[in-house]
Amino acid sequence: MARDVLIVGGGVVGLFTARYAAERGLSVTVVERGGPADEGCSFGNAGMIVPSHVVPLAAPGMVSLGLRYLLSPESPFYVRPRASLDLLRWGARFWRAANARHVERSAPVLRDLHLASRACFEELAGTIDFGLVTRGLLMLCKTTHGLEEEARAADHARSLGVPATALSAAEAQALEPGVRLDVAGAIHYPLDAHLTPGRLMASLRESLERSSVRMIWNASVTGWKTREGRVEAAVTTRGDLTADEYVLAAGVWSTPVARDLGVSLPMQAGKGYSLTLPAPRRLPHLCALLHEARVAVTPMGRALRVGGTMELTGIDTAVNPARVRGIVKAVPRYLPDFEVGDFDGLPAWVGLRPCSPDGLPYLGRTGRFRNLSVATGHSMMGVSLAPITGRLMAETLAGAPPSIDIEALSPDRYS
Ligand SMILES: Cc1cc2nc3c(=O)[nH]c(=O)nc-3n(C[C@H](O)[C@H](O)[C@H](O)COP(=O)(O)OP(=O)(O)OC[C@H]3O[C@@H](n4cnc5c(N)ncnc54)[C@H](O)[C@@H]3O)c2cc1C
Repeated sequence: MARDVLIVGGGVVGLFTARYAAERGLSVTVVERGGPADEGCSFGNAGMIVPSHVVPLAAPGMVSLGLRYLLSPESPFYVRPRASLDLLRWGARFWRAANARHVERSAPVLRDLHLASRACFEELAGTIDFGLVTRGLLMLCKTTHGLEEEARAADHARSLGVPATALSAAEAQALEPGVRLDVAGAIHYPLDAHLTPGRLMASLRESLERSSVRMIWNASVTGWKTREGRVEAAVTTRGDLTADEYVLAAGVWSTPVARDLGVSLPMQAGKGYSLTLPAPRRLPHLCALLHEARVAVTPMGRALRVGGTMELTGIDTAVNPARVRGIVKAVPRYLPDFEVGDFDGLPAWVGLRPCSPDGLPYLGRTGRFRNLSVATGHSMMGVSLAPITGRLMAETLAGAPPSIDIEALSPDRYS
């Protein structure tokens, strides 16, 4: 008989876990607090698939960079000063992890995860439509200093087997005929790709609903029943749900949900914004990151989405207009076909990234409960890593050995 699995959270990580677990013959239910067309973190993001991102957020130089940004109201990074023990502990752990040894250990793991995930996306593109474009990503640098920084990052990526090409301004322009560039140069990561997140979520949901997966919308997990090292039921606003295995994939809310079980999953919400131009003046062919501004620019069908900022302000979705202005003002500096006024009147979408202190996801079984697993903490790479996360989680649930070593991602590493 198929083992029953209950997945808490219907974001991109929960849905991919459901897909691969069902493919392995498990009987899957997803319980999601919102509705099918929720506008959470998995919907309004920049849709980039990024094998280029082999360095975790916790890396040398990030603490000093963050401190430099703190004083500017339009900067891409902000921590709201507040008396929070969780924030202090998270900050101390981030600081301890932001070193060269951590990067050296984590980069091969992230590379393997990203490349395997990209392969899953390519395979999936044959069965469902989500606007996959595999032309690579341009890291656009406005300054020679920025270009030198990114050239070093490209060397590091290449040393790990991730292709990257340094381009002059003219070479970058030749690769991107869709818009004019005003940059010092760029790095091209040919294995990066992009997709349309809303379409991905809708296609995944529809394919799950057509399969044996049961989706329970508008139901929130509010507590748990446990006995002798096992979870017996999830208590929800629509009654108790029982299963043989439970997977926590509730994004940044996994922390409070896990706390109810006595499981410690330190995370901070990394708030970001995006704005989508439905009919842009010009449409780039490739997705791009504006290096100095930390802004993402992604063509999605005929639309163009720009996004950015990382604000640690707690679980709070209030829009800070100065930071949204910071995103909008960066675009014409790199892409002079656009004007700040192009974005007038567009609503700013808000998303909360689930950020672990060491920049690595939490993935695997917990030691505290034999039948509880965790799949979260992907920070700015949750879309990119969602398929491989789902596949690894399905392997775990089916009792198969993981196809990639996930020891470094243990959800117990801060217990
Ligand atoms: C501006 C911005 C740009 C980004 N760009 C990219 C990008 O280009 N590439 C990339 O890879 N990533 C990107 N990200 C990050 C990515 O969006 C996230 O990492 C990813 O969406 C996280 O997915 P998730 O499924 O873990 O969490 P979520 O999408 O947050 O899903 C968790 C779900 O759990 C549900 N839930 C919570 N609590 C409960 C409960 N108690 N009971 C039931 N359900 C519950 C929530 O309603 C939610 O639907 C970006 C993020 C932002 C903000």
